[in-house]
Amino acid sequence: MKRLTLLCLLFTFAALAFAQPDEQRIRADVAYLADDAREGRGIGTKGLDDAAVYIADKMKEAGLEPAFGDSYFQEFEMGWGFTLGEKNFITYGGQTIDTKSGVMPTGFSAAGEVTGKVMFAGYGIIAPEFEYDDFADIDVKDAIVLCMRKEPGEFDSTSKFDGINVTAHSTLRAKAGNAKLKGAKALLLVDGPLYADTSQAEELVPPSSNEAYIDCGIPVLRITRAAVKKLFPEFELDKLQRSIDSNTQPRSLEVTKDDASMSTDLTRETVSVKNVGAILRGGDDILVVGAHYDHLGYGQSGSLDEQTNVIHNGADDNASGVAGMLEVMRMLKANPINSTVLAVAFTAEETGLGGSSHLVKNFPLDMSKVRLMLNLDMVGRLNEKNEFTVLSCKSAEELSSIVERAAIGTDLKITCKGDGYGPSDHMNFYLADKPVLFFFTGAHADYHKSTDDAHLLNYEGEVKITQLAYNTLRELDALESPLTYVRTSEPPDQGGGSFRVYFGSIPDYAQPDSLIGVLLSGTREGGPAANAGIKGGDLLVRMGKVTLNNIYDFVFALRTYAPGDTVDVEYVRDGKHELANVVLKAPPAKHQ
Ligand SMILES: [Zn+2]
Repeated sequence: MKRLTLLCLLFTFAALAFAQPDEQRIRADVAYLADDAREGRGIGTKGLDDAAVYIADKMKEAGLEPAFGDSYFQEFEMGWGFTLGEKNFITYGGQTIDTKSGVMPTGFSAAGEVTGKVMFAGYGIIAPEFEYDDFADIDVKDAIVLCMRKEPGEFDSTSKFDGINVTAHSTLRAKAGNAKLKGAKALLLVDGPLYADTSQAEELVPPSSNEAYIDCGIPVLRITRAAVKKLFPEFELDKLQRSIDSNTQPRSLEVTKDDASMSTDLTRETVSVKNVGAILRGGDDILVVGAHYDHLGYGQSGSLDEQTNVIHNGADDNASGVAGMLEVMRMLKANPINSTVLAVAFTAEETGLGGSSHLVKNFPLDMSKVRLMLNLDMVGRLNEKNEFTVLSCKSAEELSSIVERAAIGTDLKITCKGDGYGPSDHMNFYLADKPVLFFFTGAHADYHKSTDDAHLLNYEGEVKITQLAYNTLRELDALESPLTYVRTSEPPDQGGGSFRVYFGSIPDYAQPDSLIGVLLSGTREGGPAANAGIKGGDLLVRMGKVTLNNIYDFVFALRTYAPGDTVDVEYVRDGKHELANVVLKAPPAKHQ
C-alpha cells in the first residue's frame, strides 16, 4: 500500500510539471467570444447564445460530461425588457397627451388607470435633514402628483441640499415612493425649466430593457414641459421652480379642480438565458471553477462608455475568464485529480449575478460536497511586474498557504487578501457558506467600455494565472479534509448611493417580481439585522411606517433614519409574521 501511494505521488508531480496552459487556445477562445459578431454578449442577443454554444462545444471537445442531465445548458427565464401597450396617456379638459405627443411611462411604473385631481408637489422630496418637505402643506391623497425631476439648488453651492452633487432625494424612485407614501394614485414627472437644456427638443424615450423591473406600486408617467403647458395653461411651472429655488421653500399647490384621467400600459417581459456547465467526474469532493460569459451587449446599464449603442466586446470582462476556465478544464482532463470538478460559464452576471444565483439554488451535484468555488472574472490584464492579488483569500483559513504553494514556479508575485464578498459570481457561493477564491487582475481604463478589446490583453500573463488556477485546484484536491470556512463580519462596499445608516442585509437578487416584500439571501454577521435575529430567507414587509413592497421601498425607508435609531421591522419567516427591533448603525468604512 505504501509503495502504491508513493507511486501515485510521483505520478502527480510528473503530471504537474507537464501540464501547461496553451496560449494559442486561450487567444482563440478570447478572439471568438470578444468578436464583434458576438454583439458584446448582451442579454437577449444572438451573440450571447452563439457564445453559449461555442463554450458547450469546447467543453465537449475537451471530453467533459454535460453538467445538466444530457445537456450542457441550464436554461431559465429572467425579467428583461418591456412592451408598451396602447394606453399610455393623460386626459384633461378635453385634451389627451399620449406617447407620441409627450408622455412615457418609466421602467418602474405600475400599469393601471386612475382618475384624480392633479396636485403639484415641487420636487417630490421629503428631506427632514434639510428641513424640506414638498408634501407638508398639501394633501395629495387620491390625487395625481405632478413633480419635477432633480432637487432644489442644483449647481448652487450655497443650496441647503448638496448643491453641486445631487443627493439620493433626486432619484425618480424616491419621488415615486414619497407620492405613494402620501396616498397619491399616480405620479407625473417633468423636467423643471431651470435645469433643463432648453436648446434641445424634449424627447421622451421608452424605458430601456435593463431598467428596474419591480414596479413601484403606482402608475408613473414622464411628461414634457410642452405637454404640461398644453394641458394646464394656467399653471406656471417656470415661476414656481424659480420661487422654490430662490429660498428652498416648497411651493406645492393644486393644479386642477377637476379630475384628470391617466393610464399606463406596459408589460414586463422575460427572456430565456442559460448557464453552460460541464463535469469532470471524480470522487465525492467537488471543486467548482466558474467564469461569467455575458457582458454589456451594446452598452446596457453598467456601461461607462460615452458613446451609446456601441458593442462592448468585454475581452477582459470576461472572455478572459471563460478562456481561462476552459483551459484549466482541458489541463485537468489531461491530468485528472481525485475530486469531481464542475466548470460553469455563468450568464446574467452583469445584471446582478443572475446565473450563479440560479445555479446555487439549482445545483446539479451535491452542494454539501463542494469544497471551494474558484471564480475567474477579468484575468487578462496582469501588470508588467507580474503582481497578482488573489481575492477572497480569507474565506477559508487554509487558503493563503494553499495559494502560496500553488504559485511556486508561476512567476507571479502573490498577495492574498479579502473576504468572500465581492461584485461577482463567487459571492453567491460564499453566501451559501462555501469557501471561494476570486481571480481578478484589476480594473482599468477600458473597464465596462467599448474599448475592452482582445488585442489589449496580456496573454502571457493570463497563461500564468491559468497555471495558478490549475495548481490551486490540485492543491485543494490533495487536502485530506475540507477547508475551514470563514464568515467575515466585515461587509462589502455595495456602492449605490449615500446611506446614512447601515442595516446589514443581503437582498436576494433572484427574488421573483411577483413576490411582494424584500427577500433576503443573508445578513452580515455582526450587522444590525443579524443582531436583531433577522436572517437569510426572511421576507421583510415593513420598516417603521413604510410598507416594503420591493427593494426600492426598502432603500427609501432606510434613507429616513439616522445611526442609533431603533426601528421595528416586520418580516415573514415560514409563513409567520415576526417583529424585530433593529438598532441601525453608521455605515462601515470601505475596506481594502
Ligand atoms: Zn463586468
